[in-house]
Amino acid sequence: MTTPRTVLITGGNRGIGRAIAEEFLAQGHRVAVTARSGEGPAGSLTVRADVTDTDQVDAAFAAVEAELGQVEVVVANAGITRDTLLMRMSDDDFDAVVDTNLGGAFRVIKRASKGMLKARFGRVILISSVVGLYGSPGQVNYAASKAGLVGIARSLTRELGARGITANVVAPGFIETDMTAELPAEQQAEYKKSIPAGRYGQASEVAKAVAWLASDDAGYISGAVLPVDGGLGMGH
Ligand code: NDP
Repeated sequence: MTTPRTVLITGGNRGIGRAIAEEFLAQGHRVAVTARSGEGPAGSLTVRADVTDTDQVDAAFAAVEAELGQVEVVVANAGITRDTLLMRMSDDDFDAVVDTNLGGAFRVIKRASKGMLKARFGRVILISSVVGLYGSPGQVNYAASKAGLVGIARSLTRELGARGITANVVAPGFIETDMTAELPAEQQAEYKKSIPAGRYGQASEVAKAVAWLASDDAGYISGAVLPVDGGLGMGH
């Protein structure tokens, strides 16, 4: 049994974020999720926030702190794709993805760090992707944003590691959610062939890894990249 914590997950209304919220709830933690629309799972507190807006992120934290206390575990999960080949990628395609996936994580961890520094305890978990280190045609914007999260986690580890704060990256492979359902069938089949496990992953399998990184048992792990990808990105 791990110490019950106050946990905030961005984008917890669906997909991987929702599965992460369900896992923390099942383990007895106090769970809040941010959502632009919809609600988190039963038992969680849902607060509205678009992670591209600093004021909304700050207001969401204030609401969670008022209801559930200081945020001790933060999971930056909210993310988007706007896939297209480099020659066709507009500035807006690039900026929107980087601003959501990387800028969103920055806004969230900056706000979270205030309370964590006071408490001299914190767990920061950033949801990256196998694509961040492996690369992927048509995903220059997405890969850049996901690789950037590794730089954030490692810099945070060096900056705040002595204050009881850990920062780690979880790098999922191909997980069955709305995001991957949007990919063309041929691309999905192609990916499956290259996954050593021979199957796609489930959001619950990512959630277990995230919850473990937040647990008491993972207190000496920081700056790590934990793949949950059936071996797809091995060696990276
Ligand atoms: P989904 O598309 O199913 O869900 C994305 C979530 O992010 C939604 O809750 C969405 O909210 C939220 N979100 C998007 N933009 C914003 C924003 N500007 N502000 C607040 N919330 C936002 O994706 P997944 O669950 O598949 O992905 C979750 C994370 O995991 C992402 O960071 C993704 O890059 C990463 N990942 C996913 C993989 C996969 O195979 N599925 C593989 C590797 C990484 P709303 O409902 O309001 O749109």
